[in-house]
Amino acid sequence: MDFRFSEKEEAFRREVEDFIKKELPADWTEKNIYWPGGYGTLAEFEVVNPQIERFRRGLAEKGWLTISWPKEYGGAGRTNIEQAIFHERISYYRAPAGEVATEIGGPTIMLFGSEEMRREWLPRIAKGETRFWLAYSEPNAGSDLASLQTRAVDDGDDLIINGQKTWSTAAHVSHYAWMVVRTDPTAPPHKGITLLIVDNNSPGVTIRPLINICGFHSFNEVFFDNVRVPKKNIVGERNKGWYYLMVALDFERLVIPMGGFRRTFEEITQYAKETKHNGQPLSHEPLIRNKLAEIAIQIEVAYMFFWQTAWMLDKGLVPNIEASVLKLVTTELSQKLANAGMQVMGHYGQLERNSKWSPLRGRVSAGYLDCISALVGAGTSEIQRNIIAMRGLGLPRG
Ligand SMILES: Cc1cc2nc3c(=O)[nH]c(=O)nc-3n(C[C@H](O)[C@H](O)[C@H](O)COP(=O)(O)OP(=O)(O)OC[C@H]3O[C@@H](n4cnc5c(N)ncnc54)[C@H](O)[C@@H]3O)c2cc1C
Repeated sequence: MDFRFSEKEEAFRREVEDFIKKELPADWTEKNIYWPGGYGTLAEFEVVNPQIERFRRGLAEKGWLTISWPKEYGGAGRTNIEQAIFHERISYYRAPAGEVATEIGGPTIMLFGSEEMRREWLPRIAKGETRFWLAYSEPNAGSDLASLQTRAVDDGDDLIINGQKTWSTAAHVSHYAWMVVRTDPTAPPHKGITLLIVDNNSPGVTIRPLINICGFHSFNEVFFDNVRVPKKNIVGERNKGWYYLMVALDFERLVIPMGGFRRTFEEITQYAKETKHNGQPLSHEPLIRNKLAEIAIQIEVAYMFFWQTAWMLDKGLVPNIEASVLKLVTTELSQKLANAGMQVMGHYGQLERNSKWSPLRGRVSAGYLDCISALVGAGTSEIQRNIIAMRGLGLPRG
């Protein structure tokens, strides 16, 4: 067992780091209040930011938005370990990179889409021209997603969709819905679902903003009123969407901003070293030292799961239980890190980003609220524990 990166991997890491330092606006990392694991503090959710678009175009030119995809589809043809190295560095600098199309939709199309669909969608996604949002959850279908009610019925070469999606993160700044709909209401719930791609600009799509707990516009509710979608936009086979969805959810659970945890932890530790309380640096306080040591260990544990899943993908294995473990460990870490930040900063930690007294530009105060979303999105912690108990330990369904 060798825990080191190869020379080629180390060289790639340096190349990524050099690119970020050269191309990312100098003050970006410090200004960006993104909380690792959260959904609600990503700056790009609020507006389409020209700086972000320029940076992403630079990544796309190098094939880095889709590093592990084959070159024929616009990827860089690199390994999954190299992809993980890239994401670790990118998230360390809070730099923008992947989104639903590059991390979830594209890999699922690669596995289950027809060759025609791959040729139509993958190069556009790799160029960063096409953004997807996840149209899964409905007002009455969250953890129990198989009870979704949005219907699609046949009309010649098209399907006509009626229904509502909710919690639709970034729908307002994306181009297409990556969507599950019910196509056979007579079949058992899991067997009548189809996965397809729907243009946001189709007549009958209405996107309404929802403001999140941090006060940002990150998600929406979306209504579909007789929306016409060409059947060629169906991914894989009709009525087999549930199976593809399970794989897509595993891809989603592997998207972890590992470097972001390290960066934010370093900033909180630095704060504890520099800030005095009763004439002594906070870092002398036994309680704070304990807390920080505990988080440091948990970050290392999370890193191990992070590299393990990338290694599995390179071996042709599908991380399923491992994806749930990684999701669970890192999202609970997101919450523990926020709690630790609050304890280190005391009352100052509660100040919002527009106060001149707020440490780290209010990142901890926003993160304390945002980390709750981490435990819910992509399947709640309870659902991840159920998956680990059933598929990992072979325990009966709860
Ligand atoms: C910030 C944020 C962003 C999101 N973004 C998106 C998005 O972009 N697209 C999208 O489609 N969805 C999105 N979601 C929705 C998310 O996937 C759902 O909120 C989640 O699956 C839970 O569903 P629910 O909210 O209906 O809660 P429920 O399913 O009603 O769950 C309520 C509680 O019951 C528990 N529970 C439910 N079933 C079980 C069980 N079988 N065993 C044990 N406990 C159980 C849950 O863990 C939870 O604590 C987002 C959610 C959040 C918070």
